[in-house]
Order: sequence, then C-alpha cells, then structure tokens
Amino acid sequence: MTFDWNYFFSLFRLADFWWASLTVIKLSLASWLLSIVFGFVLALGKQSRFVLLNVPAKIYIWFFRSLPLLVLLIFVYNMPQIFPASSTVLASPFWAGLIAMVLCESAYIAEIHRGGLLSIPKGQGEAARALGIRFVGIQWLVVIPQAIRVALPALTNEYISIVKLTSLVSVISLTEILMVGQRLYTQNFLVLETMAAVAAYYVMIVTVFDFLLKQLENYLDVTRGKSARQPSVELMESVRRAPAHPVVPQAEFDGPALKASRLHKSYNDIEVLGSVNMSVNSGEVVSIIGPSGSGKTTLIRLLNGLEQLDNGEIDINGSPFLKLLRHGADKSRFIEHSEHRTKIGMVFQSFNLFPHLKVIDNLLLAPRYHKMGSRTDLELQAYQLLDKVGMLEHAWKYPHQLSGGQQQRVAIARALMMRPQIMLFDEPTSALDPEKVNEVLQVIEDLAREGITMVIVTHEMNFAFKVSDRIVFMEQGRVVCDDAPQVLREGRNPRVEAFLKDVSLA
Ligand code: ADP
Ligand code: MG
Repeated sequence: MTFDWNYFFSLFRLADFWWASLTVIKLSLASWLLSIVFGFVLALGKQSRFVLLNVPAKIYIWFFRSLPLLVLLIFVYNMPQIFPASSTVLASPFWAGLIAMVLCESAYIAEIHRGGLLSIPKGQGEAARALGIRFVGIQWLVVIPQAIRVALPALTNEYISIVKLTSLVSVISLTEILMVGQRLYTQNFLVLETMAAVAAYYVMIVTVFDFLLKQLENYLDVTRGKSARQPSVELMESVRRAPAHPVVPQAEFDGPALKASRLHKSYNDIEVLGSVNMSVNSGEVVSIIGPSGSGKTTLIRLLNGLEQLDNGEIDINGSPFLKLLRHGADKSRFIEHSEHRTKIGMVFQSFNLFPHLKVIDNLLLAPRYHKMGSRTDLELQAYQLLDKVGMLEHAWKYPHQLSGGQQQRVAIARALMMRPQIMLFDEPTSALDPEKVNEVLQVIEDLAREGITMVIVTHEMNFAFKVSDRIVFMEQGRVVCDDAPQVLREGRNPRVEAFLKDVSLA
C-alpha cells in the first residue's frame, strides 16, 4: 500500500477543514483569553490575605487542575439533564466546549500568573500606592503590564496546548479538525493520509500563533535595542519659556503640615517603634538620622500609610489621615482617609520607577489616573519638572537606560507631579555610586530652598546638617533628640555625640 499524495494534497482544498480550523482558532483564542482574565482573578485571590478569597481560589485551582478535561467536557455538555434551563447555552458544543476549557485552563493559567505576580518587586505596588493609585488601578496600570511580560512565554505555551486540546471537544460532537478527519476516513479508509492532513492543519495553526505571540513578546520587551529619541530643541525651549507651575503648593493650614502622635509599630510582637511623636511645619525640612535598624524606614512608611500603624494617629493639615481606633481591650479598627494620600509624596531608596514606562509616562501615570488636568497641561508640567531635575533630555528613555542617580531624579520629579504638601525621602542616595550621590542631593537641596516641606531619612550627615531645619535622632524605635542642627553640633547629648563622632561635619 502506498501513501496517496494526491488525496493528501486534495484535503487542503476542502472547505470543511478550513471551517473546522476557524472553529479551532475561535475556540482556542476565546478559551485562552477568558482563562487569562479569570486566571488572573484566581491568582490574586490565591495571593490574598483574606481567607474568604484565598481558600476558594485554592480549592478551585486544586480541583480543576485535578480533573481530566475530557470528563469535564462530557459533564458540562450533559448539564442540561440536571438543569434544563442551561440547555440554551450548553446545547451548543462550541459553548459547552468553551466553558469546560475555561474552567480547566484558568486553573493552570492562575498558576502561571502567580509566577508573573511573584516576579514583580513589592516596591512597584508601593510606589503606585504612594502616588494615590488604588488597588484596581495598581493592578491594571502597573502590575498586569509587567506580570504579563514575564508570563507571556508560559502563556504562549499554554495557548499551544489549548489548540491541541480542542481536538477533545470532538467527543461532544463539535465539528473541529479531528472530527472532519474522522468523518472522512470512516468513509474512504485512507486513515494515514487523512490524519497527516489533520496533523498539518494543527501544525499550521500552532506555527502561525507561535510566531504572532513571539512578535508580541518582542514588542512588550522594552529592553530590546530601542534607542530613545531626544526631545527636540524647540520642545525644550518652549518648555523653558512656558510659565512655570509652582512646585510648592499653597499651605492650607496654619498648624503643622504633618503631625504624628504616639506611633507604635511591632513586627511579630517585637516593638520597632515605641510611641513616636513628630510634627513638621509647612516649609520645614526635617532629617531623620540614627543607626541601622533604629526604625527610620518604618517611621517614614507609617507616615504615608505603606505600613499599618499599631497605635497612634497621623494628621495632615490638621485633619485626620491615619488612625487606629480602639474599641475595648483587643478590638481595633484602622481608619484611613485616603483622599490625603496624594498630599504626601514618597521617594524610595530603590527608586521604584515603573520599568515598563518611559520617563515621561512614569511622571504622567498618577496625574492622569487622578485626572488632574488636560493632557497637554500635564505634559508641560512633566517636562518642566524633568527640566528642574535636569532630566528633560531623557524624557523618552526607559528607566533601564538611566543611571541610578538619574533614576532617582526622575523618581523625585514623579512624586512632585502630584503637588504633594510633604515629600518623604527614605535614604534617597544610599543605593547610588558615590559619584552619583551629589547630583541627587543637589536636587533635594534646591527643593528645600524652594520651601517644600520634607522629611528625609539619610546617612549623609553633612547634607542633613546643611539643609535641615531640624534633625531627629532615632535609636531603638524612639526619638532620642529632635533639635535644630546647631543644637546637635553643640554635643549636649552623649549618644548623638558618639554617633556623629566618626563623621567630620563640614
Ligand atoms: P532603619 O530604616 O532605621 O534601618 P527599619 O525601620 O528598616 O530601620 O527597621 C527597624 C526594625 O524593624 C529592624 O530591626 C528590622 O529588622 C525590623 N523590621 C522592619 N521591617 C520589618 C518587617 N516587615 N518584618 C519584621 N521586622 C521588620
Ligand atoms: Mg531604612
């Protein structure tokens, strides 16, 4: 017996096969896309701290990953026997197939997403939160675009496996490629020729989509050899000519811009902050110094609500921002007036720029989200702020194309875009090469001179003594002294004296 090549090639002119291919493409794409969306919700559920979310998500993933697709297909298709009303949808093999595939695939894809989510540094979500972006916005604007990039190779793999799994839907009599082939060879017994054609159709579909998804992967990979244009000289000049937006917002209140009272924080029953009080007036620059582990970062993270306080309260411009309400001995409720969140800008030690966005889009993300102005207005403001920190030429680069010092200057401009009343800095220069430290300190010093209210955690003692109105010295979660720099220099406090001993203050 020989292979009937003529018959084999004739199968590529058969409309039935092409229609069946279209069905396979529709079914597989719909299953894949729906599973990506549903899988993401499941992945978030599984990661959630809330038992009501994570337990159902875990059970779902465990159950549907254990169930063979074939069993599920037959089950879903026969559902109308128990729920006759479902027959309007499930009588169609396409819809029944789609539902069964999504139920099953979303459980696998949830785990792929989880890998993607775990790869996104915690600082990304924190940076977005510090810009006042809420949960859904953070997922949609910051996390998903990055997580999808990481997950895409695995998702492509999953798509290919879905294409092949569609052949199983023939058991519930969907006319897909395998079914067309089976019908043919039961009539003419040319099994090998027909199945070779069936195989060729699958290989074609997989090849085409594999290619397309690779293109998407390359497109989303911002690190691949795209060199950025520079803003034109005309743009730079027009930015410099335009009237500057004031960086310092109008003080809204006579009293302290920020007032923290009795802040407590413990991790695993170990007290990290014990009853810290601090007050910062409008236009004041306060530096926080002290040995490592003394609670400086914790304090600054409490101040803008990135970490939940265990007791105490924080007021902004005299109105409550964060507070822990105690009811009785062990019941308490954390209260956040999140509308104040954007009044505090935060600059992190590790910059936390959004790597998938260009510099200019890093600046525009939050103001656009908060609908703070028209597109052209916001763009002008962003260019002006970039100019102020000396980064206008780099506006269209991606963060990975910048040095650490440049990234930190962009991060400062990004925080300023929200016109915060208070800027918090957590060791803004300690992740930088020594020669990049000064360019960042210079920017902060200029802001101090303009009268922006700032709280700066720093180990740069000369800088702290030069720019600060007050210096807070912390040790073991307590404020040891809180005084003007001159007073600290006088060396009245032996502990501060000892800490400063090794630094030769200019
Ligand atoms: P600093 O910024 O002054 O170096 P931190 O505020 O980072 O100090 O840390 C103060 C103390 O709190 C340290 O002992 C640190 O180990 C502890 N700590 C900080 N964050 C956590 C956390 N998420 N879980 C447990 N312990 C923590
Ligand atoms: Mg720290």
